[in-house]
Amino acid sequence: MRSYVSEARRRSLGTRRERIGPIVERLAVEHGDAEIALNFGSEVELLISVMLSAQTTDVNVNRVTEKLFVKYRRPEDYLAVPIEELEQDVFQTGFYRQKAKSIHGAMTVLLEEFDGEVPRMIPELLRLPGVARKTANVVAAELGEAQGIVVDTHVRRISQRLGLTREDDPVKIERDLVKLVPKADWHRFPHLLIWHGRRVCDARKPRCEECVLATLCPANRSAAG
Ligand code: SF4
Repeated sequence: MRSYVSEARRRSLGTRRERIGPIVERLAVEHGDAEIALNFGSEVELLISVMLSAQTTDVNVNRVTEKLFVKYRRPEDYLAVPIEELEQDVFQTGFYRQKAKSIHGAMTVLLEEFDGEVPRMIPELLRLPGVARKTANVVAAELGEAQGIVVDTHVRRISQRLGLTREDDPVKIERDLVKLVPKADWHRFPHLLIWHGRRVCDARKPRCEECVLATLCPANRSAAG
């Protein structure tokens, strides 16, 4: 149960709507370099990288795609090899059977229905096998057409700590965030939270005493808060 003290403190910080502007501004100054950590040189490579990033780190995906993108340059190339060969080539990202099957299916639909071009709208992206809401959101945003806010583990945790949502389910969290965050910031907002999560607001040991959001955060654990 929330105590009277923490409730009073939460009120004194201002409403979510009052705080969201300063939160984005301070994070943008603090993490001016925050951007997607996956390496890619084309829209198809972006799509493949994001698909491979499920359940693994971006560093691991980049290690695998460094070789993968030399061997497979066009969507047709992924269909020209036996599926077992593609499985071996993505093996180190984990869940390699499912990922190879998804890539194979996505490239097939990309060629058959989209002339080999990666679509920009989420309903179309969702027609690609193996592409779920989060992947579609990331790809659309990177292509300059953000239609939602990507919610990963960092975005979930920090949104909750900042009191921007009381939800736990990523879909419901996204619903809260899109009402709150200006549309112009939908692309950079998750990157800012992800980098803040990696550098400052750690899952187990948040460094509140060093945090630029300390005076805006109901979960601030530092004495100054
Ligand atoms: S004040 Fe602490 S809990 Fe709040 S965002 Fe900063 S590091 Fe995270």
